[in-house]
Amino acid sequence: MKFKELGWNGFLLQIPEEMRLTAESGNINSGYFKLEMENLLLEVKWEQINPKKPKSLAEISTSFIGSVKKSIEKTAKKKIDVKVKTAENIFISSHNARSMVLETGSGLREPTYIWICEKSNRIITAHFVFPPLMEEGEKLIEHLLGSFKCHTEEDLVTWSALNIRFSVPRSFLLTERRIAVGRTYLTFMDQRFSTFTEVGRRLSIEYFSMANVLFEDTYKDIDAWFQKNYWKDLKKSHKNIAFQSSEAGKIMRHNAVYRYGIRKSGLSTRKTTLCKNLTWYCSKSNRIYSITYTSYVSRPFFLKRKLNEEEEEKIFQNFLSSFKCHF
Ligand SMILES: [Zn+2]
Ligand SMILES: [Zn+2]
Repeated sequence: MKFKELGWNGFLLQIPEEMRLTAESGNINSGYFKLEMENLLLEVKWEQINPKKPKSLAEISTSFIGSVKKSIEKTAKKKIDVKVKTAENIFISSHNARSMVLETGSGLREPTYIWICEKSNRIITAHFVFPPLMEEGEKLIEHLLGSFKCHTEEDLVTWSALNIRFSVPRSFLLTERRIAVGRTYLTFMDQRFSTFTEVGRRLSIEYFSMANVLFEDTYKDIDAWFQKNYWKDLKKSHKNIAFQSSEAGKIMRHNAVYRYGIRKSGLSTRKTTLCKNLTWYCSKSNRIYSITYTSYVSRPFFLKRKLNEEEEEKIFQNFLSSFKCHF
C-alpha cells in the first residue's frame, strides 16, 4: 500500500494514498477532522487542556463514549448500549495512550485511543471504524498510529493536504476556509492585543483548480488573469492601500505577479497596514494560486510601537520558501 503525508492543525501522519479528508473544523487548539477511504474511517478530535480542571484519561474516555452513544442514538432513534473493552495501553507519539475497543452493535470494529499531549497542550482522541473482516485492518491502523505526530519541537506547524504543503508559525490559527471544487481557500490569523496596542497578521492561501478549463482565455497569462479575476476583490478587501506591482520572480519555477502596498492612517490611534499578494499559475497542478499576507499594528499616537517591515517580510518569505504548489 502506498502512503502519503497528512499535516493538519498540528498533526502529522502517514495515511494511505486513497484516503481523503472529508470533514474538518476548528483550529490547532480545539477541533476535529475525518479521513475516509473504502472500508476505513478515522476521526480525530482534540481540545485544549484546561489547567484549572485537569481531567484523567478515564474521565475523558467516559465522556467520549457518552458522545458516541448519543450520536448513534440520534441516528438510530432508539436507545443503544455501547460496550467498551479496554485493551492494552500503547504509545502514540511518545505519549501513553488509553486504548479501547467500542462495541456499538454496528458489527464494525472501532478501536479508539485517547491521550494527553502536554507539549501541544491538547487532549486527543483517535477513533477508527472498519469492517472486522477487512484484511490488513489492524496492520494499517498500527502503521497510521506509528507515524502519528501530535507535537513538534519547533514553533512551526506543517500543513500537508489538498496537494499543497507549507509551514506557518504555531500562533497562526486557521479561522476561515472553503474547500470546494473550483475554489479553495484557507485563512490564518495571528492576533495579539495588549494595552493600547493591537497587532495582527492574516495569511490567505487560495487556489482555483482546473484553470485551463475555467479560465481558458487567461490562464496562460497570469497578469491578464489577475487583472480580470482578482484585482478588484483584492482592492476591495484592502481599501486605501495604494498597491504597487512588480515581477516577483519565481515560485517553484512558476512566474508570479506581485502586488504590495502599505497604508498609514488615523490621528489619535495610528494604524499601519501592509499587504502583499503573489499570484501564479502552476501548470503541474493546473491551479492558479493567490497568496495574500496582511499585517497591521494599531496604537495610540504617543506609543512608539511600529510595524517592523523587515520582520514581516521575513515571516512572509519563510512561509513562501516552505510552500509547495505541486509534488
Ligand atoms: Zn504530542
Ligand atoms: Zn507548482
